[in-house]
Amino acid sequence: MVSIRRHSKSDAKPTEDFIYTDLYNAICERHLPPDTKLGEAMLAEHYGVSRTIIRQVLLRLSSDRLVKLEPNRGAFVASLTLEEARQIYEAWRLVEGAIIQDVTECITPQQIASLRSLIAAERVACDEQNYPLLTRLSIQFHMQLADLCSNKFLGRFLKELIPQTSLAYFYEIRKMPVCTKDEHSEILEHIVAGNAEAAIEAARQHLDGIEAALNARADINRRISLVDKLNSRISSRS
Ligand SMILES: [Zn+2]
Repeated sequence: MVSIRRHSKSDAKPTEDFIYTDLYNAICERHLPPDTKLGEAMLAEHYGVSRTIIRQVLLRLSSDRLVKLEPNRGAFVASLTLEEARQIYEAWRLVEGAIIQDVTECITPQQIASLRSLIAAERVACDEQNYPLLTRLSIQFHMQLADLCSNKFLGRFLKELIPQTSLAYFYEIRKMPVCTKDEHSEILEHIVAGNAEAAIEAARQHLDGIEAALNARADINRRISLVDKLNSRISSRS
């Protein structure tokens, strides 16, 4: 639990929203890996609030599918199988294409400026090698695109889907966050130019790149686990 941002004792008691956002970010920034135990008592003490508030927060995170609640065992950061991770990226690619098509037709200069400043912030985080922040900003880029979609159902669907990719990082080969500022910039500039087809293609390549990293990590995991198994077999003989 050490990696959660500490709440200063001198502050007023944090609200349920504050704790929800803090834990949400800690999971999306990959400070809390899948299957981490989220003990109610420990969190209540950490934030200086009642267990009732913590329970409410954990319920909200479980409806985001970032936390799993297990009877008699408590709350844990949710985990994905490799197959589920692949399915999430497949769904993301499909929905993001539809969203980009929509957004290209209705984006305003103010919204363009807001996305450009987000990309500028990603660039700063990248230069400063602040990868937790960069990861969060990368997610925000896609969330902001989803917000601009005039079809609220499509937007909401993508917003529910994307945070769960934070749970897929176990399968990724890249140490860097999955989204890069230049790829986001390419997607945005095609949208600004009114070229939905090129923007959708750039987004497809962007998400393909992420999924390829996922597959590569899975291959490595398989090799490591095989070597581990062989080693343990040898050591058990000696
Ligand atoms: Zn991205």
